[in-house]
Amino acid sequence: MKEKIALLINLQECDSQLVKLSSKKVKLPEKICKMEEEFRLYKEGVEQNKRKYEELKTQRAEGEANVKKLSDGMVKTRERLLEVKNNKEYQAMLKEIETSEKTKSDLESRIIAFMEEMDKLIVLVKKDEEILKQAESNHEKEMKIIEDDLNAIDADTVTWTEKRAVLAKSIPADLLAQYERIRKRNNGIGVIPVWKAVCSGCHMNIPPQLYNELQRSNDLLSCPNCNRIMYFQNQEKSS
Ligand SMILES: [Zn+2]
Repeated sequence: MKEKIALLINLQECDSQLVKLSSKKVKLPEKICKMEEEFRLYKEGVEQNKRKYEELKTQRAEGEANVKKLSDGMVKTRERLLEVKNNKEYQAMLKEIETSEKTKSDLESRIIAFMEEMDKLIVLVKKDEEILKQAESNHEKEMKIIEDDLNAIDADTVTWTEKRAVLAKSIPADLLAQYERIRKRNNGIGVIPVWKAVCSGCHMNIPPQLYNELQRSNDLLSCPNCNRIMYFQNQEKSS
């Protein structure tokens, strides 16, 4: 009978591994998605300074283009100034040049302010890039572990299924049927270790007499509460 319980324990190990593998097959891809999303958000946060820098760069380029447009406009106005005969028109053009000069000067001040801010930002951007590089490398390492784990599932499932088939053949049909019946009713666990008179399946106490019997007898005994097939296991010695 001790031999039968040993076979059942091994069979249970196969079944538990198979349950674990099929759960992993669902959960790991979800975990990968979640980690990718978390990293994307983290990256977005770290790249805030970079985005601000790029924004300023665009604004600066726009400002410079406007300064050039104003300068070109003023050159043309000054050329036309030489040909004007009418005094009113002459005064209007001078006023136009004056307004342009003022706008240009304001724009130039803003460009200088942009450049100063960009100088400060570029220091932070460089630091952020270092931080991100490190985080990216860590993220990739973590993802690689999970992906390897995921890729191994199919092969592991085949291995455990084969192992189970071999074991099942060596277990008497009625015992196998009993195990299957109990396992289906008890969240996939049909055989359970008992230590210090506590069933590790339902965590209920085993009556002292039954516990004594479990340690001495070779009979197959079931937990009176959850009905799982019990075996005695000293959990201080085993891992
Ligand atoms: Zn129990």
